[in-house]
Amino acid sequence: MKIFFWRVIKNILPTKDNLLRKKVPLSPICSGCHEEFESVQHALFQCDFAKRVWELLDLKQIRDGGVRRNPKEWFEDMIQSKSKENVRFSVVVLWCLWNARNSRDFQSKYKTAEEVSYEVGSELEPPPAAVYLSSNGAFSVDEGKGGSGYVICSAGGQFLAGGGESNAFPPSPQYQEALAGQV
Ligand SMILES: [Zn+2]
Repeated sequence: MKIFFWRVIKNILPTKDNLLRKKVPLSPICSGCHEEFESVQHALFQCDFAKRVWELLDLKQIRDGGVRRNPKEWFEDMIQSKSKENVRFSVVVLWCLWNARNSRDFQSKYKTAEEVSYEVGSELEPPPAAVYLSSNGAFSVDEGKGGSGYVICSAGGQFLAGGGESNAFPPSPQYQEALAGQV
């Protein structure tokens, strides 16, 4: 999930538009709606299929933020304005939407929005060790302002995702530990 989320934030998820840019021959049409070109933003936020999943989970407002902004801006906005629980919830939604997309594209398995929303619930239950956000430098999740570095770790210290401007984000000991945990 951590690599997946990193790719979302960097807009390098292997969506059809990104693959086409790499000259991979394929149809650019999203398999969720069969109408629009598939981009990261489309697959996870704009697509009618994704929209139904977000709405079933009562997260319409969070999804709407991703429709208007690119995923990185969406996430940075969210960690400043939403509870940590909602942030974790939303990352799991993205993960389950992407898995559902891969099931369609690679296994011809078409899950319903209800099934995907159920999977989100099972990913969250039993509650995994709480995911927490930490940051360094001027950035403060609690105050919702400052610089732009962040790290998401599980309570066990496993690195899940992180980002920020490199010049504004000298690695903290926590970040280095988290990276070390990836190897
Ligand atoms: Zn679509």
